[in-house]
Amino acid sequence: MSEAVAYLDLAAQMRPIRGEVDAAIARTLENCSFCLGPDVAEFEKDFARFCGAQHAIGFNSGTSALHVAMILLNVGPDDEVITTPFTFVATSWAISYVGAKPVYVDIDDATFNLDPAQVERAITPRTRAIMPVHLYGHPCDLDPLLEICRRRNLKLVEDAAQAHGACYRGKVVGTFGGISGFSFYPGKNLGAYGEGGALVTNDSALALRARSLREHGSTVRYHHDEIGFNYRMEGIQGAVLGVKLKHLAKWTSERRRIAHRYHELLADTPLQLPREADYAQSAYHLYVVRHARRDELKQHLEDNTIGCGLHYPVPLHLQKCYASLGYQVGDFPVAEKAARECLSLPIYPELTDAQVDTVAAVIRRFFH
Ligand SMILES: *Cc1c(COP(=O)(O)O)cnc(C)c1O
Repeated sequence: MSEAVAYLDLAAQMRPIRGEVDAAIARTLENCSFCLGPDVAEFEKDFARFCGAQHAIGFNSGTSALHVAMILLNVGPDDEVITTPFTFVATSWAISYVGAKPVYVDIDDATFNLDPAQVERAITPRTRAIMPVHLYGHPCDLDPLLEICRRRNLKLVEDAAQAHGACYRGKVVGTFGGISGFSFYPGKNLGAYGEGGALVTNDSALALRARSLREHGSTVRYHHDEIGFNYRMEGIQGAVLGVKLKHLAKWTSERRRIAHRYHELLADTPLQLPREADYAQSAYHLYVVRHARRDELKQHLEDNTIGCGLHYPVPLHLQKCYASLGYQVGDFPVAEKAARECLSLPIYPELTDAQVDTVAAVIRRFFH
């Protein structure tokens, strides 16, 4: 039996930065700014700079940041937003929360991302926005989507929850549309020690309104300009994220190193491996391989104490919660096939070469 390899190991990431994190949390305890406050404000500045953006606004989750993005664009009941069926469900929550309707378009077989070539025919007079996802950290093909948005007068919101620092044509994602949403869920490339998210924009008026909406619709205490939310980022999360952001570039290059090693070790297996499109530099949130015998391979990995995951086993158009949208099996064949064939292998900055070799060796045994 080979050495066990965990699918994700958050403890391995915490150990080397434990001292820095403890000191940062201690400072928050001293200043007692538990909701927003100076640690969040400083992180927001740093994260905006990291994204090459004017504004980053800290939220209590990526889901709430995306929800507020929809409100900022005045998307509401009877409106439609075009998005991908192959993503984490929270992408669609943002659309549903404002009473709008998610309209799904099938994905590109190579990148798993929304296929720009199929977007145009899903546009109706009710369409307000397009919300692509940079799935697994691989940016979508943004230029054709932006071109459609310009021509058809639509907004573009990036769901960048998995793509901190990923680059599209050499520029970090997050400012291509008017607004983007990031998640700092612990397992994301930049993870808090609890929940967290951010809304990123270059538009100062939208940023101001986002700050108000996350805090009870108020910029002056006890004066409420519109119905808002309690979507504030916690001070301790801002402190932790501030520490971790300093390590993110190094962690992303470690993820890329691991992806390349997998690629070399698995190139001659029957697996379909992830590939970067010519426009893309992936942040490799996940390393997702494909094979028709996915379920057997998953069992084989688990039998050999190798962790793995499914992202995602059920596309959104076939989820029970969205049955009322009226989609059926066969509507998005590329997404449905991806859901049957995808398998996520362990990938995190602390994964050693030896561990990657172990995972690859166990996979190679499956095919022999
Ligand atoms: C994680 C994630 C979200 C939601 O973020 P939370 O911080 O968990 O609310 C949204 N979209 C995608 C694609 C995600 O992976």
